[in-house]
Amino acid sequence: MDQHADPVDNVDWSTFSFGLNGVETDYMWCDTVVSDGKAFAPFRATNDCLVPMGKLQLSPAATVLNYGQGLFEGLKAVRRKDGSISIFRPELNADRMSSGAERFFLPVVPPNVFLTAVDAVVRANAKWVPPFSCGALYLRPLLMGTGAALGVKPSMEATFCIYASPVGNYFKGDLKAIQLQAVKGYSRAAPGGSGAVKAIGNYASAFRAQYTVKQNGFDEVLCLDALTGEAIEEAGASNFFAVFSNKTIVTPGLETETILPGVTRRSIMDIAKNECGFEIVEGRLTLSDLANASEAFCCGTGACITPVGYVSILDRQADGTDKESSVIVFGDGGTGKITRQLYKLLTEIQNGNDDRLSEKYKEWLHIVKP
Ligand SMILES: *Cc1c(COP(=O)(O)O)cnc(C)c1O
Repeated sequence: MDQHADPVDNVDWSTFSFGLNGVETDYMWCDTVVSDGKAFAPFRATNDCLVPMGKLQLSPAATVLNYGQGLFEGLKAVRRKDGSISIFRPELNADRMSSGAERFFLPVVPPNVFLTAVDAVVRANAKWVPPFSCGALYLRPLLMGTGAALGVKPSMEATFCIYASPVGNYFKGDLKAIQLQAVKGYSRAAPGGSGAVKAIGNYASAFRAQYTVKQNGFDEVLCLDALTGEAIEEAGASNFFAVFSNKTIVTPGLETETILPGVTRRSIMDIAKNECGFEIVEGRLTLSDLANASEAFCCGTGACITPVGYVSILDRQADGTDKESSVIVFGDGGTGKITRQLYKLLTEIQNGNDDRLSEKYKEWLHIVKP
């Protein structure tokens, strides 16, 4: 077979959001390894790990369920104009999962095994990769401790699994700015913690703050640093950027280890520098710095680049209630010019839509062989 399967007929891909979309793809990857007390057996890179999509069986004593010994990743496969299928910089996801595994005392999935598995899942589910420019097949790798243990200690058994789901384009038409709200007193990560790891336990603790800001009419919560509550860290599960009028772009730095090192973040830094001549500053970005920004946006694999129209700050009052203490508006509160330009550049590189950019950034695209 020298061509990927065509997309499934009679599917209205344009209705798909970032979700499961009521679709069950055909195959998932699943491999379980055990430790003899000294070392784990290696993860396999053979097609017996490709199994029909279905449920996992776990002991209720699995360490992932009891102690959150688990990691996830997120990446997208897209169908290009020429019918090929590409994945954006999967090597970086493989490396990130390796460093997370070290931190969480899980066996490392060697990057070549990770890439073989990702390719196999895309190939086996190729009919679920949407047509050109109609979305992507989102891949969700998981690495978790699945051995049973009552004591608080790492598992002797680990499972590496990848499932897939077709998702729609985040923006159906034009880019639309979102509104963020920061909640003073809420933070997602502290120095010394695991904020820099895509650890499963880092996310549910944000649900309450997320619910609160949505009730207040905002789209997503803006996370402030745990120590001072004055510096911006991230927006929901995406990285944050501010554009200043002196051709500078600032994004919170990774040195505090409280920020997830996003693949999209890193790519945008390169594009803004090389294609648009911006100076990129990675470092502390306080709310008062932000007041001088001309544009802001957040980014991640899910939504690519999302313009931010304004940021509201919710402050805890002496009587225990929360009150909006200030609002920062960027430009006219809509999509900024630089944000739009970066969005266009990044999506064209990802979709292989522009020949010059495709050639220049070809190492960023991993082509899945049929
Ligand atoms: C996944 C994630 C991001 C974005 O990372 P990408 O590699 O660009 O998808 C940013 N912040 C958090 C907290 C995340 O979990």
